Amino acid sequence: MAIRKLRYNDDPILRKRAREITEINDRIKTLASDMLETMYHDEGVGLAAPQVGILRRLIVIDVGQGPITMINPVIVSQKGSIVDIEGCLSFPDDGGYVERPEYVTAQYTDLEGRHCEVKGHMLLARAICHEIDHLNGEVFIDKKIPNEEAQKMIPKQNERLAREQNKTVHSSESGRDEVTSEAYEAPADLQEVAVIEEGTDHE
Ligand SMILES: [Zn+2]
Repeated sequence: MAIRKLRYNDDPILRKRAREITEINDRIKTLASDMLETMYHDEGVGLAAPQVGILRRLIVIDVGQGPITMINPVIVSQKGSIVDIEGCLSFPDDGGYVERPEYVTAQYTDLEGRHCEVKGHMLLARAICHEIDHLNGEVFIDKKIPNEEAQKMIPKQNERLAREQNKTVHSSESGRDEVTSEAYEAPADLQEVAVIEEGTDHE
């Protein structure tokens, strides 16, 4: 394992589309483990291959629930929308508000060649979208919502999340009327990974 050199800011590689991976060979496996090491070293929650100068469709994510390595990831469904602060290891001096789906389901191939699906909620959904954008040469700074605008959207959004969470608490606790303090916390992130199909040797 090794820490790879990150690409930053106006590096043209960050604006290019990455190519599909057709063979999971040792180079791809080494790249994936190097990307994870680089991501952890820089305390990120996600990293895409173009950020280390490799134009291949490979991303790694860890939102605190363990690493996920995704080859040729595709978003198959999404729901809702959340405005929240986002950052990027390639734009270390530049954070900002971005609107992303609240729920995302993505399919991908894992390092063993299995066809997998992951369901992400909140931060994981955001990370999946952010990293897949990188594979298409899209960077979050182009999607930023001005701070003043975001500040207006967030109180309403938080009210809605609290209401939804409250509903969940009620339905799961046989309709108690009391609102517990937990009811006002954002729903916990959901990380659900499933293998859809075992790998084939010719992959
Ligand atoms: Zn990024």
